[in-house]
Amino acid sequence: MADVQSGRARLRPAQSWPTPRRVATVSVHTSPLDQPGTGDAGGMNVYVVEVAKQLARVGVEVEIFTRATASGLPPVVEMTPGVRVRHIMSGPLEPLPKEDLPAQLCAFTTGVLRAEAARAPGFYDLIHSHYWLSGQVGWLAKDRWGVPLVHTAHTLAKVKNAQLAVGDRPEPNARVIGEEQVVAEADRLVANTQVEARDLIARYDADPERVAVVAPGVDLERFRPAAAGRETAARRDARRRLGLPEQGYVVVFVGRIQPLKAPDVLLHAVAALRRRDPRLAEQLTLLVVGGPSGTGLDRPSALIELGATLGVSDAVRFLPPQAGDDLAALYRAADLVAVPSHNESFGLVALEAQACGTPVVAAAVGGLVTAVRDATSGILIDGHDPVDWARVLGGLLAAPGRRAELARGAVAHARQFSWARTAERLLEVYRGAVTDHRGRITSELAGDAAALGAGAW
Ligand code: UDP
Repeated sequence: MADVQSGRARLRPAQSWPTPRRVATVSVHTSPLDQPGTGDAGGMNVYVVEVAKQLARVGVEVEIFTRATASGLPPVVEMTPGVRVRHIMSGPLEPLPKEDLPAQLCAFTTGVLRAEAARAPGFYDLIHSHYWLSGQVGWLAKDRWGVPLVHTAHTLAKVKNAQLAVGDRPEPNARVIGEEQVVAEADRLVANTQVEARDLIARYDADPERVAVVAPGVDLERFRPAAAGRETAARRDARRRLGLPEQGYVVVFVGRIQPLKAPDVLLHAVAALRRRDPRLAEQLTLLVVGGPSGTGLDRPSALIELGATLGVSDAVRFLPPQAGDDLAALYRAADLVAVPSHNESFGLVALEAQACGTPVVAAAVGGLVTAVRDATSGILIDGHDPVDWARVLGGLLAAPGRRAELARGAVAHARQFSWARTAERLLEVYRGAVTDHRGRITSELAGDAAALGAGAW
C-alpha cells in the first residue's frame, strides 16, 4: 500500500501495525558503545543496549542514532544481529559537554533525517528517544516520518534541581523548557517508576494517559550470586584479584563520580565510623569504582583530597570503571554496596549488586525506593547525614547473620526484574502508541477530506 500523504504526516502501510518492525532509537549525548561508569555513560547506555538486544531477539530491529565523537568511527556498527549503531556527524569529532550539545542538534537531526531518506519509505515504525536532547530530535523526526514518538527522560531537570547536592550546579532553564516541549509532544512517556510518573504529571503537566511505568531490568545471567556453598571462597578469590584484604570488611560504591551520586557521604561516614567504633572501622575498606562525570569533572581529584582532609585515605581505594564479569565479581567481593545518591531515576547498580547477593544500603530517594526493598533486600536511609550512614553501615557489618538474611532477600528482589520483561512491557507501550497515532492520523485525514468536500480549501 502506498503512503498516504497529508499536510501533516504520512500514513504507514496497514500491515506494519501495531507491532513496530523497526525502531529508531535516539541517544544523542552518549553512545551505546561507550563503557558506562564515567563521563556521560551510565545507566542509560546499559538500558539502551539491553532493551535493543531484547527487542531484536523478538524480531524488532533497532537502529540507534548517536553522535560521532571521534574520527575514524564507522558510520554503522552492527552491535548484534538486528541492532545497529549509526554514528551521526554533528559538530567536533570529540566528546562535548552536554551543555554544548543543543548547538549541534540541528546537524544531528539533519543526519538522522538523511539516513532515513536513503532508505525505503516508511523504514522506521516508531522513534524511542532517550534524555531530553534526543527528545528534541525525535520530536521533529516524528512529524517528518509520521510515526509515534516514545520518550524516556532518564533524569528530569526539575527533580534534579529540587535535590541538588551542595556545590552542584542547577540545570539551566533552557533544559527545563526543552523537557516540557518533549513531554507535550511525545505520544508516550516511559517512566522508570511510579515516582517518576508522578513527577512527569505533577511537575511537567504530562497527560497521565500517555505516561507508562516500565521498570528497567538486570542481566540475571551475568549478575548472579556465587554458587551455593561457594560464597565465601568466591568472595575471597574476587578480593585477592582486586588486591583487597581477604579478611576485613569491604563496602563498595559503583558509579559515575559526581556530586549527585554523593560518594563524599561515604568518606564522611568512614570518618564518623572511626569515631564511633574504631575497632570495626580499622578493618574497613571503602572501594570507589568509576570515573569523573558531570560537575565532578571540574575537580576530578576532589574525592581523593577529601579522603586526605578527613584522614581516611588509608581506608579508601579507587578503581577505574569495570566491565562485565569483573563488575559482577566486584559486587560479590563486597559485604555491602552503598548508593548514597541525592537522586536516582532508578539505580541499576543497586539492582545488579542485589542480583549478585550483596545487600544494598541506599538513600531513600527517587527510584532507589523501588530498586531496594527496605529491610528485606537492603536498608534505605533518609537523608545524607554521615552519622546515620556510619550507624547503618557499621551495624550491618557487625551483624553477619542480618547481612546473610538481607543477601537472600536481595537475590529474590532482583529476580523480579529482567531486561526481557522490560522489553515486553515496552512493546506494549509501543503498540499503544502506534494504535493511538494511527487513529489520530486517520481522523485528521477524514477531517481534511471533509473540509475539501465542503470546499473549505
Ligand atoms: N557501570 C559499569 N562499570 C562501572 C560503573 C558503572 O558498567 O565501573 C554501569 C553499571 O553496571 C550500571 C550503570 O553503569 O548498569 C549505572 O547505572 P545507574 O542506574 O546505577 O546510574 P546512572 O549512571 O544511570 O546514573
